[in-house]
Amino acid sequence: MHFNDLNPPERLLLGPGPSNVNPRVLKALSSPLVGYMDPFYLKVMDETKALLKYVFKTKNEFTFPVPGTGMAGMEASLCNVVELGDEVIVCVNGFFGERMDELVLRIGGKPIRIEAGWGKIITKESVEEALRESNAKTIAIVHGETSTGIQQPIKEISKLAKSYDSLLIVDAVTSLGGCELDLDAWGIDVCYSGTQKCLNCPPGLAPITLNDRALNIIQNRKTKIQSFYLDLQLINKYWSEERVYHHTGPIAMTYALREALRIIHEEGLENRLARHNRNSQAFIKGIEAMGLEMHAQEGYRLPSLNTVVIPKGIIDVNVRRMLFDYFNIEIGGGLGLLKGKIWRVGLMGRNSTEKNVILLLEALERTLRKEGYHNKSNSGVGAAIDFYDST
Ligand SMILES: *Cc1c(COP(=O)(O)O)cnc(C)c1O
Repeated sequence: MHFNDLNPPERLLLGPGPSNVNPRVLKALSSPLVGYMDPFYLKVMDETKALLKYVFKTKNEFTFPVPGTGMAGMEASLCNVVELGDEVIVCVNGFFGERMDELVLRIGGKPIRIEAGWGKIITKESVEEALRESNAKTIAIVHGETSTGIQQPIKEISKLAKSYDSLLIVDAVTSLGGCELDLDAWGIDVCYSGTQKCLNCPPGLAPITLNDRALNIIQNRKTKIQSFYLDLQLINKYWSEERVYHHTGPIAMTYALREALRIIHEEGLENRLARHNRNSQAFIKGIEAMGLEMHAQEGYRLPSLNTVVIPKGIIDVNVRRMLFDYFNIEIGGGLGLLKGKIWRVGLMGRNSTEKNVILLLEALERTLRKEGYHNKSNSGVGAAIDFYDST
């Protein structure tokens, strides 16, 4: 048997994640390993924690990355907080809300579903009604719904959670580092994310943070959590002063995450969010100038994940294949209910640039024309450039 050298193509990843990784992160990833209790690594852990607190905008000491992808963060959040038979209000307006519902069921909780259309926000009225009519002490909600492009308002729902003495769990996998998220000011109790979206790191870690209200709940559970590996209190013993072994630290991935977060810190979170908003707006201007429509409810669009309605008569896969084969660009198709109906364009972290917006609009215009969609030449690119020049 013979196997060639690994030689992956360099693609522009404008889908729902992973996003492109900075060479600095790849370099960190290939740095020499040390032991998981090496003083050097312990310092890297502390710095990674400090950087995570900066990006989450939190003072929570209980903040660290859980090994595993974003789903590990979702599962850890729910299985640490929810006990057998607990009612949990689960907000479902897309694929990842559905996932939370599924996880609550598997953990043995009783999901109380609040639903909204795929592409609409969950209203605070519907949350309040569910709080009033149930015994739920936990609310689970997605901040950036990657399947629909919705950016869910959190602040008001967080206030409600407090007034009903409920815990709020927020999925920030696609929003952390790319959208406004103010953990402490908004009063979010539990929040998790993933590394491969707006943080521009390879997939493999799930940053998570819990405030004292959440800690109090998990410290006073009546039953042990079923998962040993995702027991956050045990993992925290390794990430805090105690330094008790729970699992071998994912050393190289922690190097990578530290570097990815350091890059965000250098740019400054506010600058980074403004950049995401600006490039998303330019992209939307271009899309609308081409006669296309955005899918997500106006006013609540995620700057890091932009959803475009596939026009009538256009075949989803033909367009994505040409973008891929001819332009070397990956964008996402629809997920679940929206399969074949929308495209998902990620402008995540370092991929949210003027250059990428112009390139993708150009590629999309040419591809769509080839597929028989009639739009004026350069209408999308022109509108985006006008936007950039006027702001
Ligand atoms: C991607 C994503 C997840 C799951 O993350 P994985 O890294 O694929 O495990 C969860 N929630 C949202 C909103 C996501 O976008």
